[in-house]
Amino acid sequence: MKKGIIIGGGIAGLTAAIAMEQAGIDFTVYEAAPELKPYGAGIWMAPNAMQVFDKLGVKQAVKNAGIELEKVDITDENLNLIHGLNLKKIKAKFGSSIVAVHRARLQQVLYSFVNPDKVILNKALVSLEEKDGKVVLHFADETIIEADFVIGADGVNSRVRQQIMPEIHLRYSGQTCWRGLVTHTLPDQWKNATLELWGNQLRFGLAEMADEQIYWFAVKTSPENGVDETKDIKSYLKEEFKDFKGPVQELIEATPHFMIRRTDLHDLPGAKKWHQSKICLIGDAAHAATPNLGQGGAQAVEDAYTLVQELHLSQTPEYAFDSFQKKRYNKVKRIIFGSYWIGIVAHWKYFKGIRNFFLRNTPSFIEESQLNSIYRIDD
Ligand SMILES: Cc1cc2nc3c(=O)[nH]c(=O)nc-3n(C[C@H](O)[C@H](O)[C@H](O)COP(=O)(O)OP(=O)(O)OC[C@H]3O[C@@H](n4cnc5c(N)ncnc54)[C@H](O)[C@@H]3O)c2cc1C
Repeated sequence: MKKGIIIGGGIAGLTAAIAMEQAGIDFTVYEAAPELKPYGAGIWMAPNAMQVFDKLGVKQAVKNAGIELEKVDITDENLNLIHGLNLKKIKAKFGSSIVAVHRARLQQVLYSFVNPDKVILNKALVSLEEKDGKVVLHFADETIIEADFVIGADGVNSRVRQQIMPEIHLRYSGQTCWRGLVTHTLPDQWKNATLELWGNQLRFGLAEMADEQIYWFAVKTSPENGVDETKDIKSYLKEEFKDFKGPVQELIEATPHFMIRRTDLHDLPGAKKWHQSKICLIGDAAHAATPNLGQGGAQAVEDAYTLVQELHLSQTPEYAFDSFQKKRYNKVKRIIFGSYWIGIVAHWKYFKGIRNFFLRNTPSFIEESQLNSIYRIDD
């Protein structure tokens, strides 16, 4: 196989880099950021991602960087259980539970498994074109580099995607999210657990990641592109979530202002084809999902592994890209769809009693089959 360039050193790009190094495929990663230091938030790495990490020999390092969770509880504002998920059973089945980890630590772990000479930082792609059987890439520092194939792993606002599929646009979910990170001691019952409280068009979730670092998110139904009208965002959030019991108020209060960040939640359901000739998109660049299933990063990891397997087996990148998409497309579509609708249902203003009744009484065989379809990876 020839020389490839990976644009983006996030979860997808670094996982692809580890897999390519192990498969003996020549590559370089170009990352726009001057250092690999993503926003200080947490991320849940689901069992499907952990199985891929296991195949790549990085699972233990990821586990060591975070906390393996034992349960997920979804409750109403008053902490009445709506749905509980026992992750010990999941771990027994898939070899790993969900790991809650600081994004920066995850990134550092993945980076530590790649030859650092192969990751060039502070190098933002501006445009790319195909010429004489090569891909020609133009960077912000005015350098031009050629490659035999390109993997666009440059995230939800992908420059690679904008170049090859300008007609594909993000969809706003109708919800905005504030994420916070705080050092705090949680009551024992919420250690090794994710707690998510569903209220009236509001949601609050939290989990410990490691060393008493708590990651929380607060989601509200809101118009797109809203801005915080107050500098005192903590008071605003405390007021919005005043009816929420448990550690919600104390977590918001204890979080420094600069550790709270607002993000509109989008997905990308529209891309029917993730590749064009010698250029292929993976992760959020191809198919961002809303975070409601905690699967965007996991799907990026699955993509990276599957794509590199196909590159390893195929004579041409074009063939590899095609069979990669055939293997991944249906699962990813299901995740985008499911995740979007969980967000809608979680924020229902009406019929909450009916929703909660069905969630409380979901037969275990239905839940198991849904989780299987998400957490099982194709070998
Ligand atoms: C609020 C929220 C919570 C989430 N929670 C979870 C969760 O719990 N579990 C989960 O699995 N997923 C979660 N996700 C989704 C997850 O964050 C993404 O799916 C994941 O980060 C995608 O990885 P990626 O590598 O494709 O993109 P990214 O992680 O965005 O990485 C893209 C990289 O490309 C670089 N880049 C961008 N443009 C250029 C350019 N022009 N040139 C060079 N480099 C460039 C960026 O700097 C970045 O490093 C969440 C998302 C949100 C918004």
